[in-house]
Amino acid sequence: MRALLSLLIFASGCAGPLASLKVERPLTLESARFTIRSDGTVDADVHRIEHALSEAPAGLAPWGGLETPVTVFVVSDHRALERAVHRPGYAWLRAWARLEDVVVQAPSTWTTNAAVIDELLLHELTHCLLFQRTGTPESWRSKQIPLWFREGMAVWTAKQQGLYPTLEDTAQWAEKNPALDVFEDGEALSAEHYLEVYGFALHAFTFLERRYGAVQLGALMGQMKAGADFATGFEQAMGTTLARFQRDFLNYLHLRAFRGTGRSAPLLRPNLHELIEKRRPGA
Ligand SMILES: [Zn+2]
Repeated sequence: MRALLSLLIFASGCAGPLASLKVERPLTLESARFTIRSDGTVDADVHRIEHALSEAPAGLAPWGGLETPVTVFVVSDHRALERAVHRPGYAWLRAWARLEDVVVQAPSTWTTNAAVIDELLLHELTHCLLFQRTGTPESWRSKQIPLWFREGMAVWTAKQQGLYPTLEDTAQWAEKNPALDVFEDGEALSAEHYLEVYGFALHAFTFLERRYGAVQLGALMGQMKAGADFATGFEQAMGTTLARFQRDFLNYLHLRAFRGTGRSAPLLRPNLHELIEKRRPGA
């Protein structure tokens, strides 16, 4: 994919901790537009992020891609990240996404692994895409998409499965902690139980995607964009209630239905091979 790169000095009147990031690097790809903003002292980080952004549109393709350009702010260290996103005490946090921007802690302060950086940016851009496809600049903050869906979708899209607990580990954790409800309280639980909560989110989203597929997930986003809240959009797109889906996933975990078959969840979406077979003359 061809990238058009140039370096400009950004002059802005905006206030806040991100206002000091005045060096602007636009990146125009065939299917997305980005701008990287930094303080000008983290060139190597900016180059790594450029690479990650150039790869990201392919990863976002299952969901139709970004609708609007995204600005990526590169902050110098973890303290600056917590300050910029108002999340004190989240030591594991490396980036934060909103509708049209992502704030990233300079990767060189926490990793040298290029693949990890690619995955992180794809994860964050998946959040931007979800916010863009379910809301507007006026409405996206009030949509209250549950953490399990947001983070499950992002971890799944960025193929970060290896970072989080397996299905068996998740089943055991859920059994040992029957009072913890990730579906309802994911946000609050993630501060102390980050890995377990994100693992649960990943497996719940994977179960959902396998059952209904990208087309119906796209329909859920479309329903929300048209005004529905998450639970209503879910029911309209999936034809089942959110509560019913959550019960099904918990049963799937507790009964270890993921064991033995080599398949992670039953298919409820049309099987293309079966449809093709049925249409063959004489079949
Ligand atoms: Zn995330």
